[in-house]
Amino acid sequence: MSFEDLNLHTSILKAVHEAGYTTPTPIQQQAIPELIAGQDVMACAQTGTGKTAAFMLPALHLLATPAQIRCRGPRILVLTPTRELALQVSDAAKKYGKFLPRINVVSILGGMPYPLQNKLLSQPVDILVATPGRLIDHIQRGRIDFRRLQMLVLDEADRMLDMGFIDDVETIAAATPNTRQTLLFSATLDNAIDKVAAKLLKLPKRIQVASHKTKLENIEQRLHYADDMSHKNRLLDHVLRDEKLKQAIVFTATKRDADTLADNLHAQGFAAAALHGDMNQRERNRTLTRLRNGGLRVLVATDVAARGIDIAAITHVINFDLPKFAEDYVHRIGRTGRAGAAGVAVSFASIKDSIHLSKIERYTGQRIVSHIIPGLEPRIKPRFNNNGSRNTPNVTQKRKRSPFSGYSGRASFSAINNGLNGNRNEQRSRPFSHDDRNGSFRNRSASSAGHQFARTK
Ligand code: AMP
Repeated sequence: MSFEDLNLHTSILKAVHEAGYTTPTPIQQQAIPELIAGQDVMACAQTGTGKTAAFMLPALHLLATPAQIRCRGPRILVLTPTRELALQVSDAAKKYGKFLPRINVVSILGGMPYPLQNKLLSQPVDILVATPGRLIDHIQRGRIDFRRLQMLVLDEADRMLDMGFIDDVETIAAATPNTRQTLLFSATLDNAIDKVAAKLLKLPKRIQVASHKTKLENIEQRLHYADDMSHKNRLLDHVLRDEKLKQAIVFTATKRDADTLADNLHAQGFAAAALHGDMNQRERNRTLTRLRNGGLRVLVATDVAARGIDIAAITHVINFDLPKFAEDYVHRIGRTGRAGAAGVAVSFASIKDSIHLSKIERYTGQRIVSHIIPGLEPRIKPRFNNNGSRNTPNVTQKRKRSPFSGYSGRASFSAINNGLNGNRNEQRSRPFSHDDRNGSFRNRSASSAGHQFARTK
């Protein structure tokens, strides 16, 4: 199937060709005809599958026909969980709509000054891309006229649910005309998403493309056991010096760790900077622009900030700390291997992370093979032998000093032993649980800060 077969407006086809796309991706092939036919759609598709164009091209196609109602309000509304994703969607709208006459795209995001947003909203808007919280503020102040709204897109609806935005989403949807077409995109379609869809969509067409289990094929996943923080830092230094590494995102568990690690890397001569939710929007944009322009080689980020980043030169993703949720692991490593390119995802784990690693592997359906770098061997034996058989985590006996001496004073032998056995305390406090009914991970208490797993600092 070619883009011509999708019956899109010629100006949109021109922009698609200019973007270098030759064939629609599976989600585009399935969703675009349904959307052009006016159907509500709920689609299970992750970032990297071409989902943004899957909804943006039909949205622009709608705009190629003049509005029936004359007013300044948006004709298309896209809600996203994060500011970064919203900016990316806005960029995509501008890119694909560049040959259509006068398409006005406005982003309304938290952290931006109100006077500027008021000014943007006082002009005619075609496509409004917004994060829910800030949009609600403007709706309550009567600044948005939704009378001519034709399409509502909920992008990464699972994430909006996780982040507690779903009530806001429902309030926003209630402020829009009942005649609208509604699209829901989500990385997973589970019971919670079904409930949202039942409230907001009309007889939606359900579309599912390759799940997380098959999506990671072009990404090589490696595991390095780290004995302690100093060992982790040495491993990181080694990985960052790999000649094949063009650009990397290093994920830490907390915003403070992101700042500290970025400062340390900068001091060691790496072009590195941090990206996290405590930075204001201007700082975040500046950092992302540097990354896009190649001015940064290493971005040290937290989960929320890095979501949606789509930069082809990111060859490596490094989990300095493992993510709290298995689905975040998939989102993180999906920052590399964009649009079918090869990518490398490296995870550092301590002996205490074994159970957590197994959960990630169960979710992805793939094993993360442990690697050893000569000279940086862990004292812990890897879980897997070279022949792939599973090892119980253990401690090598070769070294003279105590196998646990690398851990901080607080980490007693019994604490480590608890780690070997799954650390009961850790299990109790972990918000990471597997919902066997639908095979997805649940509890989404969504606090992004804090170490979920005992750190060996
Ligand atoms: P997304 O899933 O929307 O985050 O898109 C992932 C990447 O795929 C983006 O860099 C898009 O520019 C790119 N892309 C989208 N559609 C196509 C296509 N049909 N052919 C090639 N690349 C595409």
